Amino acid sequence: MRTTTDVPVRKNDEVTLDIIGLTQDGEGVGRADGFTLFVQGALPGERIKAKVLKVKKQYGYAKMLELLQASPDRVEAPCPIYRQCGGCQLQHMDYAAQLAWKRQHVIDSLTRIGKLRVADVAGEGVVVHPTIGMAEPWRYRNKAQVPIGMALADMADGAAGSLIGGFYARGSHRIIDMDACFIQHERNDEAVRLVKALGTRLGIRAYDETTGRGLLRHVVVRTGFATGETMVCLVTNGTRIPRVDELVEGIRRALPDVRSIVQNVNTRNTNVIFGDETRVLWGSDVIHDELDGIRFAISARSFYQVNPAQTVALYRKAVEYAGLTGRETVIDAYCGIGTISLFLARRAGKVYGVESVPEAVEDARRNAALNGIANASFEVGLAEEVIPRWREAGVAADVIVVDPPRKGCDAQLLDTIVRMRPKRVVYVSCNPATLARDLAVLEAGGFRTVEVQPVDMFPHTGHVECVVLLVRK
Ligand code: SAH
Repeated sequence: MRTTTDVPVRKNDEVTLDIIGLTQDGEGVGRADGFTLFVQGALPGERIKAKVLKVKKQYGYAKMLELLQASPDRVEAPCPIYRQCGGCQLQHMDYAAQLAWKRQHVIDSLTRIGKLRVADVAGEGVVVHPTIGMAEPWRYRNKAQVPIGMALADMADGAAGSLIGGFYARGSHRIIDMDACFIQHERNDEAVRLVKALGTRLGIRAYDETTGRGLLRHVVVRTGFATGETMVCLVTNGTRIPRVDELVEGIRRALPDVRSIVQNVNTRNTNVIFGDETRVLWGSDVIHDELDGIRFAISARSFYQVNPAQTVALYRKAVEYAGLTGRETVIDAYCGIGTISLFLARRAGKVYGVESVPEAVEDARRNAALNGIANASFEVGLAEEVIPRWREAGVAADVIVVDPPRKGCDAQLLDTIVRMRPKRVVYVSCNPATLARDLAVLEAGGFRTVEVQPVDMFPHTGHVECVVLLVRK
């Protein structure tokens, strides 16, 4: 076994590196004497001079000192805080190159983890299409989720200080105060700035995760791109907000498009943003948005895709892959507020949605009614528990759609899909690694992966979304 004494580099060494790859976190992968070093800000094809920061048994980290040979894909990152902020990872890479890299990343996961054969130009195997990108890949996010802290100078002298809020610095929980985020809807930036200013004036203290004291933890703002309606959610460590009426009044006066101001209470010492209790401070408990002619009510804790333009592309592809004629029975697992379910319901006989967050299921039912869609029903629960019960009750699905969180599908759910033998499975995934793992299970269970469509939901970040068609062999 290798120990750190056999590795060919040591901390503080200066090395020349050829960058041969890019990680999901946007770090360049370099090799020094066969040893892997990760370098923030370096791109594939580049040659750099770097200083070794840290060495582990199998790999290490280095910092770029000098760019000896730049990649043709290198561009100037437009955001002034790009280097400090942990939110984006690929702003220094040309957008077309980002799209090509994301597709390659999907291919690599499918082949290495899923052991699938990917079709090259004319060969047999899974077809991986070019990534669907955005014409204007900026200001695309409908949701800002901003951790709040106190300005450092104020912490030192203990005086009532000003609130800061922004992003966590790369790899840490240090908050970088931010006025504007180039991938965020302007209104959301404006609302966050406003809450920071009002909160500071009203003497509201930020929560401090090391001491567990202080009140305001996060400000979460969501704006419907189609409707212009905005929700402001204050996540607090405790129920009482001092001078709450003045705060609500201040938000309403400055931002007339705000339709909903809510408070979510989270008193736990955790990285999870939301607590269980949400209360309306003013207005509605939901805002609305519209995708492809379907209207959605969205409450604070419900999942709703952050990039509405690309979401429409993704959902249309999912519906196309479902191959519906109007008669099919379809299951939509991990259905959230019923977005994909309602897209499917327009073309299917009957849609069953299942989702674990109760508020999201309430939203889903409300959304079906809002759009006069009568052939979709929803149940609260874990997909891996509810769908086996449906199967026992005699539900026979022609198509099963899954859209799990990053950790992928539960093994029990995959097993149930295999037993239910639908004609098609449509897998929507935000994580190519767990996607590839689950596709291998479905392949072994009698399905064939036909095609994969990567969609760029998160430009300038390392994330890539995919929609995949599988058919029963
Ligand atoms: N298809 C929806 C939501 C996808 S996000 C959309 O496109 O908007 C994944 C969803 O799965 C979230 O709403 C999350 O609350 C839910 N979820 C997570 N684990 C689950 C499980 N085991 N069973 C059912 N739903 C789950």
